[in-house]
Amino acid sequence: MKTRKPMIIANWKLNGGLDLICTSVASFIGKHFDAQIAICPPYIYIRDMMTFLQYSELQIGSQNVSKYESGAYTGETSAQMLKEAGVSLCLIGHSERRTMFGETNQACFNKIARALQHELLPVLCIGENREEREQKKTQEILRQQLTESLKGLDLTGKNLCVAYEPIWAIGTGLAATPEVAQETHQFIREALVDVFDLITAQRIRILYGGSVTKNNAQDLLIQKDIDGLLVGGASLDPGHFLTICEHASRIAKEEN
Ligand code: PEP
Repeated sequence: MKTRKPMIIANWKLNGGLDLICTSVASFIGKHFDAQIAICPPYIYIRDMMTFLQYSELQIGSQNVSKYESGAYTGETSAQMLKEAGVSLCLIGHSERRTMFGETNQACFNKIARALQHELLPVLCIGENREEREQKKTQEILRQQLTESLKGLDLTGKNLCVAYEPIWAIGTGLAATPEVAQETHQFIREALVDVFDLITAQRIRILYGGSVTKNNAQDLLIQKDIDGLLVGGASLDPGHFLTICEHASRIAKEEN
């Protein structure tokens, strides 16, 4: 039995618009899920989305957050602003932000601290690239990302999530097998014990992301240390995303 409530997050990246918002939200109206479900649209749509959410359990996440509180930082959006807009969680350190926008582990640490300060749930994204996996450096890379992004944070009365997103699996159609994902999630949980302590590591949800579809979601979700999914491409199809959420809810119900 899993004590952690499953979480399914849609990452729309630089996609979507009012049409997608309407069709996605419509498919969730009036439905109950034994899982926490969130959509991360582009910033500009957060407020639009919020107005549609009164009749659904959906939450809104952001794809990024500034490490700064306020000031002369053109183009940035702070944790406080996101909170005020109704956001519940924020992705931090997505591999696209790391590789294309130079986001470092230190920046992730600062962003997580800001998110926690403003009662947003940080979702730290970590993962190795193909070369690192082939060179058997996966554990070393993940441990470094976890340690440098998390060590020293005070989680008293707060929580965070970790999303394991192997870069070789993102947008490639080559998802990690449930066995590989489980093995890696177990390693991440053990590393979290070293970063924090056993009790804290047990309550941190570890999500898997990378080419999740409605067809492979169930096999991933039944793994012991997989507490949810971060879904990119498949979340742009409202029917597929709903099916993934329904799988998560049913599995949670069966397990309890
Ligand atoms: C992502 O980029 O967060 C992601 C999981 O993408 P995809 O599902 O398309 O691989």
